[in-house]
Amino acid sequence: MDDSKDVLGVVFNIQRFSLHDGPGIRTLVFLKGCPLRCIWCANPEGLTLNNQVLLDKRKCIGCGDCIPCPNSAIYRSNKQYLTDPNLCNGCGQCVEVCKYQARKMSNNCMSALEVIKICEKDKFFFNNGGGGLTLSGGEPLSQHQFALAILKLAKQRNLNLAIETSALVKTSVFLSAISLCDHVFIDIKAINSNLHRQITGVSNQQILKNIRQMDEYLSEPEKEKVTLRIPLIPTCNAEVSIIKEIGEFITSLKGNYKTEILPFHNFGESKYEKLGLNYIFAGNGNMKEEEAIPYKELLSSMGVSVQINTH
Ligand code: SF4
Ligand code: SF4
Repeated sequence: MDDSKDVLGVVFNIQRFSLHDGPGIRTLVFLKGCPLRCIWCANPEGLTLNNQVLLDKRKCIGCGDCIPCPNSAIYRSNKQYLTDPNLCNGCGQCVEVCKYQARKMSNNCMSALEVIKICEKDKFFFNNGGGGLTLSGGEPLSQHQFALAILKLAKQRNLNLAIETSALVKTSVFLSAISLCDHVFIDIKAINSNLHRQITGVSNQQILKNIRQMDEYLSEPEKEKVTLRIPLIPTCNAEVSIIKEIGEFITSLKGNYKTEILPFHNFGESKYEKLGLNYIFAGNGNMKEEEAIPYKELLSSMGVSVQINTH
């Protein structure tokens, strides 16, 4: 018996009516947890499975109702009450007492069927605009049983499926997930393993192995559903020699994969502030599209089918 509908997992956001990360109007489902720690991560609330407090300072009037915190994680600063993320255990008590909705928890525990029911609300738009469900994160496959359950239920309902993945997961899980999806977006951040460790906290050995396995596993027509994505990050990988190495890896694959350069954006900055975390790119602006053009030209000259994606 297929018990996919009852599989539970942790979601940190469901964003309806998105026009990115797949064709048409999409519902993006963001799953918590990720084995990488990319220093530019735009979704820091998706990194750990721990339940975290997000504080919106614009809403905090400094009433002090949220103290005392059982873990002494809340402290006064400039007439507001902030959270020390190192002391908070995510009990949620402060969220319940805050009358101004300044505090909210990051985690939403849901069943796979509950996720699908939310997505199905937009079936009319999916059917008329070629849209569907996109699984994202975090690394959605870090909760692989939950992710695969959502994909299977969605497939049974003929929803168009996309996944955004780092490919840092067991090969069998990776191949199962991409088999179920109509569109697959895979990040490549660096080829040199030491550099990859420096900028993401982990080796890329399994990631590159999985991409090569995928290259063997997918038929030629199936390869068309894959897009390789290169986040272009100042001080991390925005250098000619690093992007050239990525180009060499891509052209060594059998498939002629669509490739996108994603210039650095700063959309995640406010989330670091809400979580009380330091952000190395605080105050930096978005990278301009023109800055990515030389890298696009480099990859094009190597035979990569590449576009710049600024969304
Ligand atoms: S209860 Fe809410 S509004 Fe009052 S100090 Fe705490 S976070 Fe701010
Ligand atoms: S959730 Fe709120 S009350 Fe609970 S430990 Fe964290 S800061 Fe304190």
